[in-house]
Amino acid sequence: MPSDNGFIPLCEPFLDGNEWAYVKDCLDTGWISSVGSYVDRFERAVAERTGRAHGIAAVNGTSALHAALLAVGVKPGDEVLVSSLTFIAPVNAIRYAGAHPVFIDAEEAHWQIDPEAARVFLEEQCEPGGEGLRRRATGRRVAAILPVHVLGHPADIGRIVELARRHGLRVVEDATEALGSRYRGEPVGSHGDVACFSFNGNKILTTGGGGVIVTGDQSTAARARYLTTQAKDDPVEYIHHEIGYNYRLTNVLAAIGCAQMENLDRYVERKKEIARTYDAAFAVAPGVSGQLEAPWAESNRWLYTIRLGSAAARPSRELMAALRAREIQTRPLWQPSHLSRAHQQDRPGWPMPVSETLNRECLSLPCSVSLSPGQQAKVIAEITAAVERRVNFKKES
Ligand SMILES: *Cc1c(COP(=O)(O)O)cnc(C)c1O
Repeated sequence: MPSDNGFIPLCEPFLDGNEWAYVKDCLDTGWISSVGSYVDRFERAVAERTGRAHGIAAVNGTSALHAALLAVGVKPGDEVLVSSLTFIAPVNAIRYAGAHPVFIDAEEAHWQIDPEAARVFLEEQCEPGGEGLRRRATGRRVAAILPVHVLGHPADIGRIVELARRHGLRVVEDATEALGSRYRGEPVGSHGDVACFSFNGNKILTTGGGGVIVTGDQSTAARARYLTTQAKDDPVEYIHHEIGYNYRLTNVLAAIGCAQMENLDRYVERKKEIARTYDAAFAVAPGVSGQLEAPWAESNRWLYTIRLGSAAARPSRELMAALRAREIQTRPLWQPSHLSRAHQQDRPGWPMPVSETLNRECLSLPCSVSLSPGQQAKVIAEITAAVERRVNFKKES
């Protein structure tokens, strides 16, 4: 809820709907665990919102991604194309499945996975093999593409899906940051074979922790449900033919999710309003630009992020420190995942300049649904002043 102690957080949960009432209902009725009507309702709400026939709840977005990869048939030893500029979770999920990430750089304009770089990789480094596409350098099967809709802005998913179809690959969308966003008018999460959402505390909606897989395919949905519920082949005799996972979301958390879903439109609207205010302010600040929306995109503006591109601007870490001193929380973009020591065995042999530049130059700003106009004015004033100090310093020296 709104912080009134002066500190301005980056992005905090907002719970002003039926959360209490639905959670109380769970406690009053005793339906608190991994089965219950709120789980079904929550799954349906997210599926409907994304125009999909099926929704499968999971304990978090990361487990949803893991189960989704398995459900579309990614096998140990496969390779999966993934955004290099991302929070690490989807890359870890690829490894949980025993597969290997192939990092694809971001494009300069909207910071999303670059379909052109993916095309070049598939056409120049791969060839048709035994059961699909094979990467020449490793001899491994290339099974899927996992695009991340970074910061809520949709990747060019139409081109990604087309590329995947042409090469016989599956598409698992990491839409964890993009609930409520649209691509060419269609909900984000409605394009790939499956899409995953997260309801972690910093996302646009939260259940404290949670995830949902959506898909239009009945057998993929059944497979995801089977794998997330311990792979029960006979639920009475407890017979299991495969290794399953306990990835179910509890009814209590799903109850919070049902209440949050009722307010999605309102929260997206508020995020857009915050973004418009920042955009207008930074349009006149030298060396500061916001994340531009692509012609195909209607972003939920989940995490408002600026780029400090020109020589006049303060580098992002310097600005972060200056703002921290004024009790304003900001955050740089993630270390590009191809540089992560945890994934060094799969480091690409080609340069990835865009995600590395964005990591240096970008900074995410406070943009909670609860952000007050006064708080936002303070953030804008502090950034403008910091940038101007830097501009004047450059002029003098
Ligand atoms: C938040 C997030 C996830 C993981 O979600 P959890 O619910 O925290 O497991 C995955 N991918 C991206 C890009 C995210 O931002």
